Amino acid sequence: VALTAVVAGVARPVAAALDGLLRRLPLADAPDPAFEAGVALARLLGWVDRRTNERIDVSRPGRALLAAEPRAIARLARRLPEGTVVVSGTNGKTTTTNLLALVMAEDGRRPVVNRIGANMAGGIAAVLAAAARFPGRIDGDVGVFEVDELWLERVLPDLAPRVVVLTNLFRDQLDRMGEVDQVADHWDDVFAGSADGPALVVCADDPRLARVGRNGGLVVSFGKQATGAGRSVAADVADCRGCGSPLDVGPTHIGHLGAWRCPSCGAERRTPDVEAVDVEVNDLEGSRFVVTTRAGAEDAAAPVELPLPGRFNVANAVAALAGATVFGIAPHRAAPALAAARTAFGRAERLEVDGRPVVLLLAKNPVGADELVALLAARQAVDLLVVLNDRDIDGRDVSWIWDVDIEALAPVVRTATCSGRRASDAALRLAVAGVPSEVIEVLGPVEGGLARAAARAEGELVVLANYTAMLEVRELVAELGHAPRYWA
Ligand SMILES: [Zn+2]
Repeated sequence: VALTAVVAGVARPVAAALDGLLRRLPLADAPDPAFEAGVALARLLGWVDRRTNERIDVSRPGRALLAAEPRAIARLARRLPEGTVVVSGTNGKTTTTNLLALVMAEDGRRPVVNRIGANMAGGIAAVLAAAARFPGRIDGDVGVFEVDELWLERVLPDLAPRVVVLTNLFRDQLDRMGEVDQVADHWDDVFAGSADGPALVVCADDPRLARVGRNGGLVVSFGKQATGAGRSVAADVADCRGCGSPLDVGPTHIGHLGAWRCPSCGAERRTPDVEAVDVEVNDLEGSRFVVTTRAGAEDAAAPVELPLPGRFNVANAVAALAGATVFGIAPHRAAPALAAARTAFGRAERLEVDGRPVVLLLAKNPVGADELVALLAARQAVDLLVVLNDRDIDGRDVSWIWDVDIEALAPVVRTATCSGRRASDAALRLAVAGVPSEVIEVLGPVEGGLARAAARAEGELVVLANYTAMLEVRELVAELGHAPRYWA
């Protein structure tokens, strides 16, 4: 332990020095040997960072490398013989990316993946640098990268993806994203489709994506059958992308996703190429469904057992299955691999704190949170820790919590502890929803909140956290020794 502390103490300044050194190297368009040295330095920086035994920024080596050579992503990505898949959209990026990588690996490929959601240029460069091997090689044959919606434009030219998977567009982090329809407009332009462009794998259930791929090229659509369960209160219905008229929507499955039709121009959801039907969701344990394809052969339908909770993950799974078809992996061949799926880091991850079972749920926008509420509301009783932050990456505006149907959850809340920078906002929301004030406690610092919530819980502790809050809780559990570090 003492040695670890000594190493950690030395590692910190060494990492800072390496970071500064790498950033100053004149590697822009440098010859390959010089670039190799820069990549090696980035790898070394990542290695030293991991010795610091503190919360690290996994993207730092990538950002330093990009400062030295802005085209580092392009130079490294082209080493991947089977090219790159990019996954973007509001919800489901991390899980879809991990599921697609799992399917690829089961099929014998070696994917290079940004597994924990470091989805801006620095994170992607860091993952590529970590996989790079001297000279000019890379330990992997296909890249599978989730990319932040707002970073797509900047990394697409460098990644030159073979496939782009677009999951959905929801209202999310409004102050960061701007109007969701502006993003849709932008995607219409960028992903109009062409014979020599990337294959586009697109959600048929989202009318905001209806015009993606309209100019041709390979388009594979995916979706989840909606069965009239009604609309989420958080649904924000888009206007028709074609003519601007209000759409007829329903039945839907998550938010505005589902069946849709334009009464004015006749545009409508078409039966997707790859579709999940007969979906049965079993609490947070997972779901079972049948994946159908329009290929028509004996592989037209295959059963899928998915050990990930909620309908969102069914949509993520079917997105991954659709993406795999571009690589010649038919859904019936890919489906068995999904049974081995593990929840992506912090997404319904099962942990333990002081002997208390804990499930960590990421809730960062109304639609995703509503889906979790619907699952939890079916329980007899729920012991809750809500951690709400308002850092830049979360969005400074946390008013979205008022769009979540907490009222549906209130009757089953047994204990509720609120933490994070906006703990009191969370507590107020619970109280207004009808959670008795005597079961609500507010403890701002996450350390105290987690311990207190675990002590108060009578059953499994359910943690609902937004993005940086989830990272804090996850890292705290690791520091307590109950789980591996997130980069391990
Ligand atoms: Zn229309």
